[in-house]
Amino acid sequence: MFFFFVGGLEERAARTIKTDFTRCIRCGSSSTDLVETEKVLKLFFIPVWNWPGNNTAVRCRDCSFLFHPPPFSPPPFLRCNSCNRMVDGPDYIFCPFCGSPI
Ligand SMILES: [Zn+2]
Ligand SMILES: [Zn+2]
Repeated sequence: MFFFFVGGLEERAARTIKTDFTRCIRCGSSSTDLVETEKVLKLFFIPVWNWPGNNTAVRCRDCSFLFHPPPFSPPPFLRCNSCNRMVDGPDYIFCPFCGSPI
C-alpha cells in the first residue's frame, strides 16, 4: 500500500503594489510588479486554503517568475575618501591603495 501526499505550500501574488518595480532576475525584463503575496495550501494541485503571507515579492509580467528582491543591495563599488579611487566590492574595510579606512 502506498500513500502519496501530493501537495504543498505555495506562494503566489495577491495584490499589485507597484508596477515596473525592478528588473527580472530570470529574463531581464523590466515589466515587473511589486506584489503582496499570499500563501496557498495545495492538495493534489487544488488550492484548498490561502491566507495572507505578509510578504512582498516581485513578479515578472513576461515570464511570470516570482522572486524576492534582496532586502539590501550594497553598492558594487566603494570610493575611498582619502585617495578617491574606486575600490572593487563592499568587502574592504581599508583601502587597498592607500590603506585608509573606508
Ligand atoms: Zn522575467
Ligand atoms: Zn584610498
